[in-house]
Amino acid sequence: MDAARPPITTPILDLFKIGPGPSSSHTIGPMRAAADFLAAVSGLPAEILDRAAAVDVRLLGSLAATGQGHGTPQALLAGLLGHRPESCPPDIVDGLANYPGGAVVVAGRSLAISPRAVALDLLTVPTRHPNTMVFRVTAGDGTVLFTREAYSVGGGFVEWQDEEPPVRALPPYPFSSMAGLRRIVEETGLSLPDVLMANEEVVSGLSRQAIVERLDGVMRVMIDVVERGLEAEGPLPGPLGLWRKAGVLFARYRQDPQMADRPILALCACAFAGAEENACGHIIVTAPTAGAAGVLAGVLYIAKVLRPTAGVFRKNFREALLVAGMVGLLAKHNASVSGAEVGCQGEVGVASAMAAAFLAQANGHGVHVVENAAETALEHCLGLTCDPVAGYVQIPCIERNAMGAVKAFAAYQIAAAETPGHHVVGLDQAIAAMAQTGRDMCTKYKETAQGGLALSVPC
Ligand code: SF4
Repeated sequence: MDAARPPITTPILDLFKIGPGPSSSHTIGPMRAAADFLAAVSGLPAEILDRAAAVDVRLLGSLAATGQGHGTPQALLAGLLGHRPESCPPDIVDGLANYPGGAVVVAGRSLAISPRAVALDLLTVPTRHPNTMVFRVTAGDGTVLFTREAYSVGGGFVEWQDEEPPVRALPPYPFSSMAGLRRIVEETGLSLPDVLMANEEVVSGLSRQAIVERLDGVMRVMIDVVERGLEAEGPLPGPLGLWRKAGVLFARYRQDPQMADRPILALCACAFAGAEENACGHIIVTAPTAGAAGVLAGVLYIAKVLRPTAGVFRKNFREALLVAGMVGLLAKHNASVSGAEVGCQGEVGVASAMAAAFLAQANGHGVHVVENAAETALEHCLGLTCDPVAGYVQIPCIERNAMGAVKAFAAYQIAAAETPGHHVVGLDQAIAAMAQTGRDMCTKYKETAQGGLALSVPC
């Protein structure tokens, strides 16, 4: 086992969250946190519940800076009204844009939710995490009866100030780094997916069959997302005046079967489709985040459905999805997948690395090519900032998803062609560089809409 850090005990399936976009840290995470807060409120002693009159939440840091454009208030209201990301219809979230106020019933008591229940606090600087939420239950006279602080740490994952992370069973093949995982594969003679599946059974508590069904379900949703996005047209929500382009690109791909670079056009169309569906707040799969949801979904669609180079791709997409998820977890465990913490290198950069690993595994390569493909994709996203124009997950996000998918394809091709032992940089080194670059990155480039394109593009 790696000595440096505790082993990864998060299930790979947890990385692939199904829920409404446009941002896993700004919509899916907050919605989950609100629903979990209500669950905690329902367990309060009767003497507190009897005085409880209202519930509210204050957003700090990146959530306050870009929450409006990301749809965070609506996602939180949906959560406070009892919805969960995996089952919340997107039109419920849309319908909360002009929320008139209402109430939620908790443990038999009605708690008011005012139209101003979600407050954006741009003045208080969060200390523990840039995506901070402070939930409160108050009495009729304004007295605070119960409060909890939560952090949306990226990819829809939520941590609470007063809660230790759950203690999970140690997997049979513990690792915390790519080097450790590679050693396990070499020493046991097992394949990379076999090691990951054995671990997943223990840390998720699910049977192998249930894991297979969940992986198939994730792929089905990803394919649905891309298909919906390819068929949709019209403008995207918000003030940018951006129109959907996925269908236009796809029509061009279909028009000209002789075009030499057709696969690249198809790949861009599919990644646009996923990212545009996300920008509309529709259901997507985080991989590793909602903002980057078009990258792996686009690559999967190309590999599994379109197969423009038929015969090249083998069938084991389930194993490839497990391997892609492992790359995302390594990045989350040793750096971050939150744009508010490390910029877009942690979102589209990690998504690109996941997609490159996916392609390598789907094409039947071993652990070295998988690692080298992921490393190459991530290495060339290092330093990527997060500067969404007007705080909307549209510019540069949608085109960036397409660039991430194309980069994944190129990284896989390079890794598959080179002699694996001649590859100098390891995935762990690229992840460490991403973590350090994220620490050094100025805050205005970390999902605050205060730098880069967000400044230079008037809106
Ligand atoms: S720039 Fe990247 S990290 Fe930032 S909101 Fe867009 S996709 Fe997410």
